[in-house]
Amino acid sequence: MIRAIKGTRDLLPPESGLFEEVETVAREVFRLYNFAEIRTPIFETTELFARSVGEETDIVTKEMYTFQDRDESSLTLRPEATASVARAYVEHRLWEKPGLTRLYYMGPMFRRERPQKGRYRQFYQIGAEVMGSGAPQVDFELLEMLTLLLQRFGLTDAELLLNSVGCPQCRPAYHEALRKALEPRLPRMCADCQRRAQTNPLRVLDCKVPEDQPIIAELPVLKDYLDLGCREHFQQVCQLLDSAGIRYRLEPRLVRGLDYYTRTAFEFVHGALGSQNSLLGGGRYDGLAQVLGAPAQASQGIGFAIGEDRFVLALQAAREKAGAIVPAGSDVFIAPVGAEVQSACLALARELRAAGLSVETGEAGRKLGKLLELASRTGARFALLVGEQDLSGNQIPVKQLATGHQQSVERAGLSDYLKQALTAAPVTAGEVGKS
Ligand code: AMP
Repeated sequence: MIRAIKGTRDLLPPESGLFEEVETVAREVFRLYNFAEIRTPIFETTELFARSVGEETDIVTKEMYTFQDRDESSLTLRPEATASVARAYVEHRLWEKPGLTRLYYMGPMFRRERPQKGRYRQFYQIGAEVMGSGAPQVDFELLEMLTLLLQRFGLTDAELLLNSVGCPQCRPAYHEALRKALEPRLPRMCADCQRRAQTNPLRVLDCKVPEDQPIIAELPVLKDYLDLGCREHFQQVCQLLDSAGIRYRLEPRLVRGLDYYTRTAFEFVHGALGSQNSLLGGGRYDGLAQVLGAPAQASQGIGFAIGEDRFVLALQAAREKAGAIVPAGSDVFIAPVGAEVQSACLALARELRAAGLSVETGEAGRKLGKLLELASRTGARFALLVGEQDLSGNQIPVKQLATGHQQSVERAGLSDYLKQALTAAPVTAGEVGKS
């Protein structure tokens, strides 16, 4: 048997329905904030990620799926999408259009990480980027939009962690202080930290090795080294959040996994996710677009990426806790009583679908008992038992599968009756999918 590659998986119903639901609601929320979709290619030149994500990051040093094309150019499956969006921003000179560039994307990303629950080698992200402004108001609105999205799904227990990682002007002084503090401590730290201390000391704060955590807790924090501009920016973001009643926790050691972040950095964590508790992450990256060729005055930007797989895990946990069960099957199952009603049943199905109901049609000529058993097992909510007499009498027997309750309904009012009954009726006792 050929199986899916390690770290990849098939998304099957009913779980795939949750992905669809999350994407639909995300699109609605993004529209409220005037974002439009961008679809970038799944593979790009390796150089794009090396230059923008950063040569010294885990992603670039050990996690990218890189391959040589037939013309020997080096290509990489995208490990994240901000670099691609910034590339597109520069390639199409989007700063020349009026107003800010507000784009969102959704789709698969690829990283060769050690697979575990909530961590995959092909995973899905939903993200958004605002380019062309450095105003704290933009940071605030992005965080407010995320809060709204979480609220729409009842994930209000997700916690916002917030920090400022400064800018290229104020970071050197912090790097120096960090290096000094690290020197005597490094021999007790992991090999990765020892390497990072030389190449990019900020990355040390990102270390997940448990033995290193007490040492990291003693290191100086960036907050004490921010220059005036960065400090004011951060204060304004916090004030706007306070005045909107959006709760957050200051996390002075929060740094993001990619090199390009400046100033505001944030993450939402969720308790239901276990060790991989980061639901989404993002931050400001002023200057990234300039590295890729944009003029300095148009190169400010901020964005986030939601881990969609983890969002769905958190949603499943929340719904399970609330005891919510969603129907796994169709709204209606049409059971033809006898082979001669086949075409009339298909016409009835067409009519109900036109009214917006999901309909499954039973094979004409099979035993009614078998059809009803199938309807029940697939989780259909209602079965219509359609025989020749019912059709000529314009009365269709409707069976509610969860309760077994049956009644005849006038053909002309059938779709209205079903729609009303669907909102009121419990789901079937069949093989319902929990989600
Ligand atoms: P990042 O692009 O690293 O800032 O990650 C943003 C979000 O994507 C994280 O908060 C996670 O929710 C999600 N994520 C990152 N890597 C993975 C992975 N390997 N598997 C599943 N989700 C991931």
